[in-house]
Amino acid sequence: MEPNLNIISHLDLGILVQADPFDNATKQVYDACDILKIKDKGLRDYLVMPNKVLRVKIPVKMDNGKIRIFTGFRSQHNNDRGPYKGGIRYFNPEGGVKYMEREVMALSSWMTWKCAVVDIPLGGAKGGVFVNPKTEKISNAELERITRRFAFMISEIIGPEKDIPAPDVYTTGKEMTQIMDTFSKLHGNKSVPGVITGKPIPMGGSLARNVATGLGNAYCIREAAKIIKLKLKGAKVVLQGFGNASTFSGIYLEKMGAKVIAASDSKGSIIVPNGFKTEKLMAHKNKKGTVLGFQGSKKISTEQLLTTKCDVLVPAALENQITAKIAKNLKCKIIGEAANGPTLPEADPIIYKKKIIVVPDILANSGGVCISYLEWVQNNMGYYWTFDEVAKKMEKNITKGFRDTYDLSKKHKIDMRKAAMVLAVERVVEAFNLKGIWP
Ligand code: NAD
Repeated sequence: MEPNLNIISHLDLGILVQADPFDNATKQVYDACDILKIKDKGLRDYLVMPNKVLRVKIPVKMDNGKIRIFTGFRSQHNNDRGPYKGGIRYFNPEGGVKYMEREVMALSSWMTWKCAVVDIPLGGAKGGVFVNPKTEKISNAELERITRRFAFMISEIIGPEKDIPAPDVYTTGKEMTQIMDTFSKLHGNKSVPGVITGKPIPMGGSLARNVATGLGNAYCIREAAKIIKLKLKGAKVVLQGFGNASTFSGIYLEKMGAKVIAASDSKGSIIVPNGFKTEKLMAHKNKKGTVLGFQGSKKISTEQLLTTKCDVLVPAALENQITAKIAKNLKCKIIGEAANGPTLPEADPIIYKKKIIVVPDILANSGGVCISYLEWVQNNMGYYWTFDEVAKKMEKNITKGFRDTYDLSKKHKIDMRKAAMVLAVERVVEAFNLKGIWP
């Protein structure tokens, strides 16, 4: 079914740009509603629309004494299952400020479904400031003023029981600490570590957060392997992207017996047919700044990397990597989508037909939000768990999320991506029906 354009015009968001991310998010929700036979237009629109989209002006005195105005957003999509949760990014997408608003709305929707699929009691949100600290000349002091003013502007709608932000594109534990401190100062200097997650450990961060996404993805791949009776011992793994999500996917898959044979980064792709240790490639990349030139490796193209004969493919770089053309040539048995949106919708039916089992992004990379949730729990109780305790709790949520998704995919004869959305929408609708509408 077509996205509901009335909703879009109702928000008066101006020109629609091509490949509008909120249209994509809308379509995914409507598709899940169709499978669940949710026909009530009001309920369908309720599930699509964010509850609140706050757009704020951020005036900042720059180092040269001049004032510069930045724009920031916080989109709170749904809190039927618990407080809103989602990152804050500092970014300047090509489509400009209007596009960014649509993007954070879409991303806030995906956070709702991501939390629901692994059954953590949180809702979905996303925020951002239209600024790119990597490409613009912004000093540390200016960035801190942007961060603190943005925190002030959204302070009324965030809080440990309301909305708990986290790091995202080009934000780190440093910004999270500044947001926590600003929020604390605005609330009588109370200690409120639970207002934000992704904090450094001394500031109340959680152990295992740094490895969470890769570890969660490895758990999902292990469960998928059980289903297709693939032995992980000796299984061949290809990693696209060689950053946080992929290296920890590689390291934990190795611990389960698998062998990484190829990897890539923004500079190129390599293959070592007999395999290598992820940590060795990490050491090489730390020294040389790229995976290229790794001992015993051969340079290959991106297409060759993605279509290498292997057991497990981990796309962990960018969105829109697996096109219909790539899908036709895939030679893997499992895809663990560590990246957000690596597969184009046109590729999904091809992959399904080839009986490749896909762990969709909202499930495969939910380890990050699972451990963010556990960070928030630890902050709220003021008691901290060991690495193993945190990892074990995350494993429980993720493996159950995987099983529930797989069971639904069999029940409705749909692919895992659709099944994950159906599961998530079903859970949010259940909460909505229990609460009803007030006033
Ligand atoms: P990162 O910055 O640590 O690593 C990204 C890697 O991708 C880098 O090695 C970079 O060189 C590589 N890359 C960039 N362009 C490339 C290209 N064209 N071809 C091949 N490689 C390319 O980022 P990350 O945190 O690992 O995130 C990777 C993906 O995982 C993103 O889609 C992100 O949204 C998603 N994700 C990450 C987390 C997390 O906790 N890290 C959580 C959820 C989702």
